[in-house]
Amino acid sequence: ITILAVETSCDETAVSVVRNGREVLSSSVNSQIESHKRFGGVVPEIASRHHVENMTRVIDDALKNAHVTMDDIDAVAVTEGPGLIGALLVGINAAKALAMSHNKPLIPVHHIAGHIYANHIVEPLKFPLLALIVSGGHTELVVMQNHLDFEVIGETRDDAVGEAYDKVARTINLPYPGGPEVDRLATEGNDTLNFPRPILEGYDFSFSGLKSAVINTLHNKRQKGETVNPADVAASFQASVIDVLCKKTLAALESYHINELIVCGGVAANSGLRGRLKKETAARGIQLHIPPLALCTDNAAMIGAAAYFLFQQQHFADYSLNGRSTIELNINADDLDK
Ligand code: ATP
Ligand code: MG
Ligand code: FE
Repeated sequence: ITILAVETSCDETAVSVVRNGREVLSSSVNSQIESHKRFGGVVPEIASRHHVENMTRVIDDALKNAHVTMDDIDAVAVTEGPGLIGALLVGINAAKALAMSHNKPLIPVHHIAGHIYANHIVEPLKFPLLALIVSGGHTELVVMQNHLDFEVIGETRDDAVGEAYDKVARTINLPYPGGPEVDRLATEGNDTLNFPRPILEGYDFSFSGLKSAVINTLHNKRQKGETVNPADVAASFQASVIDVLCKKTLAALESYHINELIVCGGVAANSGLRGRLKKETAARGIQLHIPPLALCTDNAAMIGAAAYFLFQQQHFADYSLNGRSTIELNINADDLDK
């Protein structure tokens, strides 16, 4: 089964051709980071416009690089949500047009399901598993007992962890996207500022208090004429984030008796998080899986991987498919048919 997948939920225009859920024949990603940099974040209107400009070329690229034509494609998959509605619609309309004109089934895919299935490309998923999804828009803990069987056990109540990274970066004058910059700077500083470790009950997260603590600390110190070492801010913030993420993740692994941990999303690139999780999971005999960076950040190969399993369930949409800015991941495998 060969699937052409389209992903435009945020600021990358991505198209991929994936065979049998694991073999990536091509994966084209057009990132818009440069266009959004001067605004310090993704501007939805600009993102939509760039998707429109790039869509056709990225589709052509993906087919060409895979050495296939639409005749070789069994289905067209597309991210249905969550994401920026205007951005999603560009991908959905392109996918619909392709599916309709070539008479192929259309498969709607949940963006987070895609992030989790990125790991399936590297190595087949083993169940039960726990997935920690950490990106610019998401911070979630998901338990899976089987394919397409998702149970969201925790999520952020306010800022996503990547978003907190980007905001903290701005307060210490680092360019967007701030995550990689803070990560790098953190290695040059020390955890001396005693930022809070926001631990909520259960498995939910909250990062806006931590972000405010960083801003307030900087403000107070500057007012008193004290200097703050930005590297210490980065190190202290990062230590707090990693503590919270690791604590919740390890607690969930233990109480759900799970030995397989998947980490995905752009923040999975974080060196501190990787190092700490590697150590903690090794000590507990837990298998840790983190896909390579190109599969951690937004891409369409992950959508094609998830779509393979939806194809087997005949989870098809008709041509009235609409984008959804928010959408539950907890689809029960039984009521997939719409
Ligand atoms: P979505 O949330 O919908 O998946 P997104 O585009 O915001 O979309 P990603 O592309 O997966 O998310 O990840 C981007 C985020 O990851 C940014 O917030 C960026 O700062 C963060 N990030 C990237 N590298 C690192 C790093 N080394 N440490 C911390 N954060 C990082
Ligand atoms: Mg992105
Ligand atoms: Fe994403």
